[in-house]
Amino acid sequence: MSKSKNPETIALHGGEYRSDPATTAVAVPIYRTTSYQFNNTGHAANLFALKEFGNIYTRIMNPTNDVLEKRVAAIENGLACVTVGSGQAASTFAILNVCQSGDNFVSSTDLYGGTVNLFTHTLKKLGIEVRYADPSDPKNFEKAIDDKTRCFYAETLPNPALRVFPIKEVSDIGRKHNIPLIMDNTAAPVICKPLDHGAAVVVHSLTKFIGGHGTVIGGCLVDGGNFDWTADPKRQPLFNEPDMSYGGAKWGEVVPQLTGANVSFAVRARVCLLRDLGAPLAPDNAWGIIQGLETAPLRMKQHCSNAEKAVDFLTKHKNVERVIYPTLHKGAVGDRTKKYFSGGNGALVGIEVKGGVEAGKKFIEALKMFYHVANIGDARSLAIHPATTTHSQLTEEELLAAGVTPGYIRLSIGIEHPDDIIADLKQALDASGKPSLKAVS
Ligand code: PLP
Repeated sequence: MSKSKNPETIALHGGEYRSDPATTAVAVPIYRTTSYQFNNTGHAANLFALKEFGNIYTRIMNPTNDVLEKRVAAIENGLACVTVGSGQAASTFAILNVCQSGDNFVSSTDLYGGTVNLFTHTLKKLGIEVRYADPSDPKNFEKAIDDKTRCFYAETLPNPALRVFPIKEVSDIGRKHNIPLIMDNTAAPVICKPLDHGAAVVVHSLTKFIGGHGTVIGGCLVDGGNFDWTADPKRQPLFNEPDMSYGGAKWGEVVPQLTGANVSFAVRARVCLLRDLGAPLAPDNAWGIIQGLETAPLRMKQHCSNAEKAVDFLTKHKNVERVIYPTLHKGAVGDRTKKYFSGGNGALVGIEVKGGVEAGKKFIEALKMFYHVANIGDARSLAIHPATTTHSQLTEEELLAAGVTPGYIRLSIGIEHPDDIIADLKQALDASGKPSLKAVS
């Protein structure tokens, strides 16, 4: 097991995997199996009763996924991790692991559009209320709390606004009230460690920078092991009341007793939510994500350095109205980048092209190397117009609250040579300023 604190080393050697115990293979094998042979009836019974930990069924655990889980936990400085089939499943599980019908949670307004839909509409149908708080003042989170509030939720580097979230400020407020902060760190793996700043749980869409090649959908929940789920039993009933689906287990008490570790959040997500709701990550997909993870720290450096160069170019181009990047925000919001990020400021860049929506469309259509896709974090450079795509199901008010103006274009800067990135941006911006050719009859 690697004791290194360096992400470049953890990505290759982190967790417990050294070589495959069955074959000594160095590369992580794909365990394409649904089930596992029990040693005897006692062993089977002990596994189901959680008296012993081991493989039962791939909906709940798999050795390939286990390698990925331990490495992501190590990268995030967490204690345990559970992989699921997508980033959306990770956000859903994160909330359902602490909230039940009649409960509420407070979420930042700066969110991925898919998460807004999940929180505002689907969770509402399940009787769970989201209360939105503007993170420009962390106290907004405290104002929204009542005795049914079970967690805070936010993104580290939310696009399109690209305002770094006040992690410590909000987690401190939460901890005063025994409310855990759950952070979606999809856009800033390696360069930000929310658990080090007081967050209790990190979720990822592994589809993005960690997978890194636009080939696999996946998600995970990382348990920081730094939150006392039993400190206020009324605040966290799902961890303190007997769970009749598991022989009356009180998860906050029983997991530390059984494992010797404060990983009640991860264990409950695995043995209750994966058991009941399904949505596991397929081992083939876990393998694909492991390939990405092994070079993610290296890629993040290139993503971030290319993004800085692109920002520098864009801020000087005459056809660009405005550039949005974490370090360009003024005052406390800009200062948060320095406080929470190290080794780079992210790969996401927003621009408003002069000439509004029409010029923006021309810009996107003129791009030759950038792909026009609904994704971020691919090794390739990507571009999209959020108002008509990723965020198109939001109301005008929700769009503006999330920072999506009509002409906003989101760029996810890839790891190509920076000169080629800038050349493509330049020719597309030049084209966006030219009048359209009228058909001559
Ligand atoms: N969280 C963030 C910040 C995202 O950008 C996305 C997807 O774009 C998700 C979660 C959902 O992830 P997935 O597409 O893997 O379900």
